[in-house]
Amino acid sequence: MSLLPFDDRDGFIWFDGRMVPWRDAKIHVLAHGFHYASLVFEGERLYDGAIFKGQQHTERLFYSAQQMDFTIPYSVAEINAAKAEVIAANKLTNAYVRPFAWRGSEQMGVSGKLNKIHVAVAVWDWPSYFSPEARMAGLKVVTGKWRRPAPDSIPCHAKCAGVYMICTLNKHAAMEAGYDESLMLDHKGAITETTAANLMFVRGNEIHAPSTESFLNGITRQTVLPLAERRGFTIVERTILPEELRLFSEAFVTGTAAEVTPVASIDDVVFPGREVTKVLMQDYDDLVHGRLKLEDAA
Ligand code: PMP
Repeated sequence: MSLLPFDDRDGFIWFDGRMVPWRDAKIHVLAHGFHYASLVFEGERLYDGAIFKGQQHTERLFYSAQQMDFTIPYSVAEINAAKAEVIAANKLTNAYVRPFAWRGSEQMGVSGKLNKIHVAVAVWDWPSYFSPEARMAGLKVVTGKWRRPAPDSIPCHAKCAGVYMICTLNKHAAMEAGYDESLMLDHKGAITETTAANLMFVRGNEIHAPSTESFLNGITRQTVLPLAERRGFTIVERTILPEELRLFSEAFVTGTAAEVTPVASIDDVVFPGREVTKVLMQDYDDLVHGRLKLEDAA
């Protein structure tokens, strides 16, 4: 991972409708989004000059904002255009794209109705979320202490800043203990996902995926499940308990940043297989690079 600080880089950031030099894209310290987590964001990838499922990501940004009780003061088409503009300004063809929207500084306190809504789009070179070695070996995952909140505790399908604090805590604990990632359980103790990617498991001819009542149904997840179906696998979306982990031969994560990455182990359960994961890694790679065309993959 690059050690270049994120506030000290060359390039441009699209900020409230203007292209701003990277180092000048600043907010005031008294921003509601900063103090009370009223910020929503997206993570997208640009492959060979085209964002994979860019429209779906923009739509999720608007959905997340609506869940946080605010309205983005642009249209979906304008945000799509902003993404294209900032990609061009930074002369990137393979990159990570981060649109985000937050409440400003007009009002400080829990209530945020009077705050102006700001929007920015940043884009940067980011080859792989996990190191290539970690990727091939598979992720070492450990169950985290902090659980995903119940679906009636937070708008759990919004990609909003607030829900990520528990992820940061779990990720820190996992890394300090020598693992790559943290498994997050739900409020009842069922398996959900890792800190920033969805989880799937292989058993015979079936792909088992935790059902997404209390967490993000990722765009990559929604892409990979049909890819697996196309390969003849039966998809089983259901509640999966930790004691069932030993029944699976393979495990992998899916996410915009993680793409499809094998999981080597969760706690003391080892997943030796890579056969199915490799096929889906290749299919996903072919799809995002336009080598595989599916009708529903636009
Ligand atoms: N879960 C969480 C908590 C995430 O942050 C992400 C990344 N956005 C995902 C799942 C995967 O979502 P997507 O496939 O849309 O990137």
